[in-house]
Amino acid sequence: MIHWEAHACLPLHPDADFAPIDRLHAAGVNYVSINIGMDMNPLSQVMSVIGGFRRTIAARPDRYLLASSVDDIECAAASGRLAIGFDLEGAMPLLEQPAMVALYRDLGVRQVHFAYNRNNSVAGGCHDDEQGLTELGRRMVAAVNAAGVLMDCSHTGRRSSLDIMATSSKPVIFSHSNPLALVEHGRNVTDEQIRACAATGGVVCVSGVSGFLGTRTPTAADVARHAAHVASLVGVEHAGIGLDISFHQRELDDTPPGNFDATWWWPKSAGYDRAISPMTYTPIETWRTLAAELARTGMSGDEAELVMGGNMLRVAREVWR
Ligand SMILES: [Zn+2]
Repeated sequence: MIHWEAHACLPLHPDADFAPIDRLHAAGVNYVSINIGMDMNPLSQVMSVIGGFRRTIAARPDRYLLASSVDDIECAAASGRLAIGFDLEGAMPLLEQPAMVALYRDLGVRQVHFAYNRNNSVAGGCHDDEQGLTELGRRMVAAVNAAGVLMDCSHTGRRSSLDIMATSSKPVIFSHSNPLALVEHGRNVTDEQIRACAATGGVVCVSGVSGFLGTRTPTAADVARHAAHVASLVGVEHAGIGLDISFHQRELDDTPPGNFDATWWWPKSAGYDRAISPMTYTPIETWRTLAAELARTGMSGDEAELVMGGNMLRVAREVWR
């Protein structure tokens, strides 16, 4: 079975070390979506990151495969390699040009969401005033559908996410979002959003981030509990995993150039005060024990495999091209 990690973060630096990605692979992951930029990252940074990551992947064809199809993922798994795709967190690097979506796809981007916590000209962010999907946003959804890229609603505001899911002609995912019913946090998603996602045929992938799981030291059991909530609400075929582990590398500075203000993108008022509640991540080894923890919530072995990858494989098979 294919194990699908819907979101992981390396330093946004062309020289990022892929060793943590190798550890994910060793823990059983077959496909990982790696972030290549967010709304706060200028195009100069996003492009150099894509260039650097593509170079690293191309240099190790024995180890990695930049996937553009589900067949690629299955082929990589059969030959002991890790399949990789890129994801973009926010529409600002699309420069208000729907045609940019297909360009990013050609560079390896397989999943896109439109707003990173804050509002922009395309959609609303989850830590900003409520804003619906704009007219440009509607054209962007059509461009994402046409390009065969996964439409993702993590970090997006509630109204915009519901608009996107009503507009999209293809299944929509949340690549790393947890149920609000279990933990009150602005980044978490309501049962209404989860139901809307399932209605598109999509998947809600739950994260392993402390603040969103409501614990200081997140474990595989916490991740399983959140996935089980999604499964009980809308069916096991709509739950997935996107642990969202950020692998910092001290020697690489990936701070966005210019007037970057972290407290704008991660407002203290929304629970991002590091002094009070630092964000920690569930360990990579979560992937080794997740099947057992999902079983403990009452899932069968086959159902656990759907959550760990089968569901995202189904959606990608329908969306990617
Ligand atoms: Zn994120």
